[in-house]
Amino acid sequence: MTAKKKPLEKEAEKVGQPSAKELELTETSPHTISLKSAPSIQPELNIALVGHVDHGKTTLTERLSGKWTDTHSEELKKGITIRLGYADFTISHCEKCDFYTAKEKCVKCNSLVVPLRKISLVDAPGHESLMATMLSGAAIVDGALLLVAANEKCPQPQTKEHLMALHISGIKNIIIIQNKIDLVSYEEALENYQQIKEFLAPTEYKDIPIIPISARANANIGVLLKAIQELIPTPLRDMKKEPLMLVARSFDINKPGIKPEKLVGGVLGGTVRQGKFVVGQDIEIVPGYMVEEKNKKIWKPLLTKIVQIFSGGQPVDQISPGGSMAISTTLDPTIVKSDSLTGSLVGLPGKLPPLHYQITLDTHLLERVVGTKEETEVKPLAKGEVLMLNVNSAATVGVVLDPSKKNSTCALKKPICANVGDRITISRRMGDRFRLIGYGILK
Ligand code: GDP
Ligand code: ZN
Repeated sequence: MTAKKKPLEKEAEKVGQPSAKELELTETSPHTISLKSAPSIQPELNIALVGHVDHGKTTLTERLSGKWTDTHSEELKKGITIRLGYADFTISHCEKCDFYTAKEKCVKCNSLVVPLRKISLVDAPGHESLMATMLSGAAIVDGALLLVAANEKCPQPQTKEHLMALHISGIKNIIIIQNKIDLVSYEEALENYQQIKEFLAPTEYKDIPIIPISARANANIGVLLKAIQELIPTPLRDMKKEPLMLVARSFDINKPGIKPEKLVGGVLGGTVRQGKFVVGQDIEIVPGYMVEEKNKKIWKPLLTKIVQIFSGGQPVDQISPGGSMAISTTLDPTIVKSDSLTGSLVGLPGKLPPLHYQITLDTHLLERVVGTKEETEVKPLAKGEVLMLNVNSAATVGVVLDPSKKNSTCALKKPICANVGDRITISRRMGDRFRLIGYGILK
């Protein structure tokens, strides 16, 4: 048996269990899975933080979680693919003051507070070219916070685009945050509030609350937390559903030159969409890895085992939806390194959605392209056109074979795993980036 032919079985014999320490040491970027964050309760909810660039997402994330996630621009410079960032925070309540805080003590009376819920903020960068990241993340969020800067005219292009994306992704529970109120007068704040109201009026979000804050000055954060507590409930999770994990990252945590007997299996980071996973379970990963057979690229599922699960800063025996998590497996680490499995699905063997190399969609295109100043009309799909398609956390490129509206077919560069009825977002290349133009329901 050579390592080339049967890497999985071979590695499976070698792998040991990574210690929490090892995972912590290798996972240092704040923009990734929060393996280190205390306290130990598991996050039960994912909330997206969206809004136009510079409206204050990074500042608010830091205020809530104490964590600085702004590595976006740095990563851009390095040319590394941008991925979703997570930061956890806990909403606590002071019974004495009836006040909400993300800190361990009441900011008013300094007494100890009662932790209510731990929440994961999925930080969706507002940079124009990052829409795809947001869309793939939208599949896993239970609610969203849309930031609007009070000192700029509303809506800015990305404010519009993100609201549209939330609508298309079917996210109902959202809160508008009017940030930077420290920069405007009372009258200006009211005027801006009216602009936000008018912007929301023709949408399904017309009655959602608008909470004025200053992220920089730490003003009104308590009211925001109360609103999150009341308006973005933790959805009922059906634990009997087949477990499904969306993979956001995958990596090899072994240091170069490590002795073979010390090798640790591949690690997958992401979030549980439904059901629960337990340590020791056999799992399947799809679409898996690519091989060329008879000049054709085909994908083969990976079968492995959960060695350890990490969540909320420590190993846990089992994991259910909410927040970011990581599992270590018995996979050959070279298979998973450098995020090679990003966008994959993990489930129980034989229980995952089917693999599609070609899809047929009932398409729903927007009237106008959002996110641009000009707002050009969305033209129908064209035969041979190249689209970006996002489903669950996967992104793929599709070439339109048949552009008919009710039965558009696309040949996919990389196959996707999805069920009939799943929603797939459609983006079209316009200028130097992909722009959201609609969605399709898989037939
Ligand atoms: P992002 O691009 O949405 O992540 O925005 P950032 O959080 O990076 O904020 C952009 C700029 O606005 C930074 O210089 C922040 O310090 C500033 N900023 C953010 N929130 C506030 C606020 O509430 N008041 C004021 N005056 N400045 C803010
Ligand atoms: Zn208090």
